[in-house]
Amino acid sequence: MSHPLAAFVSAAYRLEELPLDRGREVAFAGRSNAGKSSAINALTHRKKLAFVSKTPGRTQTINFFDVGRERRWVDLPGYGYAKVAKQEREHWGELISAYLMSRKSLIGLILIVDSRRGLTPLDGQLIEWFAPTGKPQHVLLTKSDKLGQRAAAQSLRDAENTLATQYSRFPQCTVQLFSAHNYRGVAQANSLLAQWLT
Ligand code: GDP
Repeated sequence: MSHPLAAFVSAAYRLEELPLDRGREVAFAGRSNAGKSSAINALTHRKKLAFVSKTPGRTQTINFFDVGRERRWVDLPGYGYAKVAKQEREHWGELISAYLMSRKSLIGLILIVDSRRGLTPLDGQLIEWFAPTGKPQHVLLTKSDKLGQRAAAQSLRDAENTLATQYSRFPQCTVQLFSAHNYRGVAQANSLLAQWLT
């Protein structure tokens, strides 16, 4: 089933440009190239959502999509691209940390992580910003189709271990395997999203 997505609502480069903080929204974050756009498209069962394909590191905005009445999916700008200017990185940090910490209608965060790479310190930074709100976060270990069964299982265990050891004070963080190519984990992730937005 595809979502009745998705009118593009708005893009924000500054906090003042965010849409009204009403209703419920979920945000998607991840390193550049981790597979965020592909994951969102797989979750909506659409090949080409309004998610523009982008040059990594280009100035990026927070993009809001309507998925129902006062329900939004939020695409956060990717991070971790080495060639981004320091000033842009700082702006990203200020915008994203403020958004994650203060946005009332934001009820959960989906973190997109390449299953071959695992959780990196930058991903941890987002977890650290958001977790004190007490709201749930969920990691999608994507591109799992590129791993064999054993390696995929290992990737899941590694991420669970990292969360249980380095981020043990944030028990509201869960994790699953995912693939935008063979749709592994799409149903699981969608049922979580539906729960969050209901
Ligand atoms: P973003 O920068 O995080 O939005 O990443 P994209 O969704 O643009 O994906 C980056 C690259 O990884 C593209 O070449 C995708 O085709 C590829 N990719 C994304 N998800 C998957 C996946 O689940 N499996 C495989 N095999 N490749 C993927």
